[in-house]
Amino acid sequence: MPGSELKQAAVPSTLKHHNRELILSCFRDNQEHSVADVVSRTGISKLTVMRAIQFFCGKGILVSSGKGESTEQGGKKPEYFRFAYKKYVLNIMMWPEMLGLTFFDMNLRTICRSSFPWIIPASPERAFTFVRNEAARLMEEYGISQSDIYGVSLSTSGIVDYENLVLKYSVHSPEWGTDIPVGKYLEDIFGKGCCYFVENAGKSISRSVLSEQEEPDKRILVLFTTWGLSGAFIEDGRILNGRDSIIGEIGHMVLDPSDGELCSCGSYGCLERLVSVARLRKSIAAAPPPESSPLSKLAPESVNLQHLFFASRQEDSYARDYVSYLADCFATLLRNVSLVFNPETVVFVGDYAQADEYFDSCVQKKLRQFRYLASGRDIEIVYDDRALFEMDAKGGAHALINHFFSREDLYED
Ligand SMILES: [Zn+2]
Repeated sequence: MPGSELKQAAVPSTLKHHNRELILSCFRDNQEHSVADVVSRTGISKLTVMRAIQFFCGKGILVSSGKGESTEQGGKKPEYFRFAYKKYVLNIMMWPEMLGLTFFDMNLRTICRSSFPWIIPASPERAFTFVRNEAARLMEEYGISQSDIYGVSLSTSGIVDYENLVLKYSVHSPEWGTDIPVGKYLEDIFGKGCCYFVENAGKSISRSVLSEQEEPDKRILVLFTTWGLSGAFIEDGRILNGRDSIIGEIGHMVLDPSDGELCSCGSYGCLERLVSVARLRKSIAAAPPPESSPLSKLAPESVNLQHLFFASRQEDSYARDYVSYLADCFATLLRNVSLVFNPETVVFVGDYAQADEYFDSCVQKKLRQFRYLASGRDIEIVYDDRALFEMDAKGGAHALINHFFSREDLYED
């Protein structure tokens, strides 16, 4: 099944279809609902709700969970219903330093998970053999058969062709070459009956941020800052990709063409290089911290961003000089991004989600110097420091579950 089918369903052709969709969506919250509940949530008539619930019970998508305790008008105990589609979705994280598999049920509850550190194997065949074996082990242990799987999502580094489920290229596995048919490898393992989805890790994590938004129409930039720097531009509840799927590869925005370090993309002065941990370590080695700095207790090659932000929180001026430089880089990025996207909210996930208040105040101060942004309405900057692998897995599973709920045949007689 091509990835393009994961797009939102077209506008429903009939009112019946639209009503059924609205009614079923009430059951996506893992709760039990009575007919009266659904009527008050949707504003749809009681008779239509009753018929739709009956329709979904007939398909095995809803089941009765019995009569409730409370009574409705007339003292009759209401019958409750819940979502009961017994399938699973699997998210596979194929990251540069970690392989992780998580099975969810269709209510986005985690069924089982396994993850382990790895070095990306030299060939995709070897990588997907790992996936096959680990999936088989989990499926046997938890009694999941292949026909129980609704869909599989793969989160990877690199540029993805979403339509054809192809990994175009990743700097983390250059020996794999270009245009790797990852969707085909997944189909060989899980069969033709599944729905497949392949996404860049930064975007998969961003999808999880998107799924939790209370205001879906907000313009949001999610910045994924861990092994690389990428992200997602979210507009009208959708992640923008562009012709070559490169919208969001924000680490490769050139901020300083005179910089001497060649980036893996072939350019000089990419943001990703300017704010890298390698650059931080090099800088510390070239100009060591004074003894008063907490950073002086560490070998330069072992310092990471967490150490730096920790020292900055202690008001260490050596650390703060560097934090101020990093904040300048990100403020310049956000200034430039604002001219083409103008986000209301920026969400940092990964390493920079650990940034201290000093970093944040430096970014905001620098942004205010840009007169077009000095209207008194600061860009909202959020530091979301949740575990990336959990966000990633949920993002992928969410895409597959959305696909299920947007299927036309679900609502047809
Ligand atoms: Zn680059």
